[in-house]
Amino acid sequence: MSLVNMKELLAKSDSTFAVGAFNVSDMEMAMGAVRAAEEMEAPLILQIAEGRLRYSPLEFLGPIMIAAARQCKMPTAVHLDHGRTLETVRLALTLGFTSVMFDGSHFPLEENIEKTKEIVALAEKFGASVEGEIGSIGGAEGDMASADIKVTSVAEAKRFAEETKVDALAVAIGTAHGNYKETPNLRIDRLKEIHAAVDTPLVLHGGTGLTAEDFHNCLANGITKINIATASYDSSAAKIKEVHKAKPEANYFDFSDAICVGTYENVKKHMEIFGLKGKSKLYN
Ligand SMILES: [Zn+2]
Repeated sequence: MSLVNMKELLAKSDSTFAVGAFNVSDMEMAMGAVRAAEEMEAPLILQIAEGRLRYSPLEFLGPIMIAAARQCKMPTAVHLDHGRTLETVRLALTLGFTSVMFDGSHFPLEENIEKTKEIVALAEKFGASVEGEIGSIGGAEGDMASADIKVTSVAEAKRFAEETKVDALAVAIGTAHGNYKETPNLRIDRLKEIHAAVDTPLVLHGGTGLTAEDFHNCLANGITKINIATASYDSSAAKIKEVHKAKPEANYFDFSDAICVGTYENVKKHMEIFGLKGKSKLYN
């Protein structure tokens, strides 16, 4: 199956499942995600956020992600998460990413629309999909500054989707990046309104820490892509600590395996919740 366009993956999503997009920072995490997708027979989106490139330069990690997608027996898209600059987006597209996000949510609406349109025109030349963002998802994405939640307005989402013609739209419905300090107030009412007004597939960011019920509510009401980053990083870090505790003489390769297994377990758990088991058959 291997490397596919993200748009194709999202097109099959209905109100019974959403495609999981999992952030990876190295080969081990990519291997763990691929293993989970193959075991679950599920479609997969591998992604890296611009705010994490200090740790994993795109020139190094990008080709690994593309190779992982080509190697994966399940349909897999490779996506740039929270692209902030045209240069980074262009680099991702040149490396063969099949999808890019341009996050212009910190700009005024007009400017966000104009900049996103430029990205859509560029991505089209590469046959890649584009995700935009409207409203403001809270918390900090990697090294980026922390943002306050600004719930997406229905009118702005409609205008943004119509004018930019993005393939996917990230909406702010009360979620935040990172681990929650208090229970998020999910605005399913707003999600329903946006879904009724906008045809574009909708994306949920800030998935780490939501309950299975939260996820089901979101995918039943219009979310077609769900991003999971922090939970995989936490799962891999916990696995490394576990290995170190159980085996003080553990060597480099034991820790390398721990990263892979930690991500595998987290991705598999979320794929089950997102209703993805066996869904790769939809893409044959
Ligand atoms: Zn995000």
